[in-house]
Amino acid sequence: MNTPPVVLCFGGFDPTNGAGLQADTLTIHALGCHPLSVVTANTIQDSIKVHEFLVTDPAVVRRQAAALLADTAIAACKTGMLASPAVVETVAELVGLLPSAVPLVVDPVLAAGGGASLAENGLVRALREWLLPRATVVTPNIPELLALAGLPDDMDQAARSLLAGGRASVLVTGTHDIATSDVVHRLYRPDGTVTASRWARLAPDFHGSGCTLGAALAAYLARGDTLAVAVDAALDYTWNSLRHAYAVGRGQAFPDRRDGR
Ligand code: PLP
Repeated sequence: MNTPPVVLCFGGFDPTNGAGLQADTLTIHALGCHPLSVVTANTIQDSIKVHEFLVTDPAVVRRQAAALLADTAIAACKTGMLASPAVVETVAELVGLLPSAVPLVVDPVLAAGGGASLAENGLVRALREWLLPRATVVTPNIPELLALAGLPDDMDQAARSLLAGGRASVLVTGTHDIATSDVVHRLYRPDGTVTASRWARLAPDFHGSGCTLGAALAAYLARGDTLAVAVDAALDYTWNSLRHAYAVGRGQAFPDRRDGR
């Protein structure tokens, strides 16, 4: 039997399948890995906006993940919408059970692309305290970066403050910097190096672009790529999925996550 690398995902259920766990599932499968899903929140949303979210009881998150962990060897782990500090604490405990060599991608989801919050009070602090110390790479967009760092406007300083004392690299996605005609993403590494990569800006607004990037990164790391290789490949895969995006409803477009289009 040819078992693909398995990626364990913690995230929210999005009924549009544009973002959240199903975005992870489509991406990870397209990239030749097998996804496992632990549901941290349910959401009521369409392609235009998030109407509501309901946080999963942390005890259920624990039982759902524990059953999977007892059954399956995990090659990489990815977190998306965790919604509440109590869920972050539980997920951090569960991830702590994995061998330390298993890469962890943390997409620090705080809000939907349309602006609605996907986080209860205290989420930022919980992510910083409990999850970021175990992360291999964190993938904030610019608003998430500034919120996580607690710094209002200095992107460079904010990224460096997240590196402090940890082992995580920080991949800052630059889509929100509309002063640049291209989109510039920056990878900050704990050794102080910064690598910028420039992509043609695509329109319109997308639903699930951050989820796609984090899931692709987890898949490439699960396949054994180094972080530098995985970041380049995940950015390329994500950009192509956005280039082929399609509309399902009246709002944001959805990335087409089939590989090799
Ligand atoms: N996770 C869930 C469950 C969501 O509903 C959303 C956005 O609506 C996100 C994550 C973040 O999506 P994006 O990749 O667009 O940042």
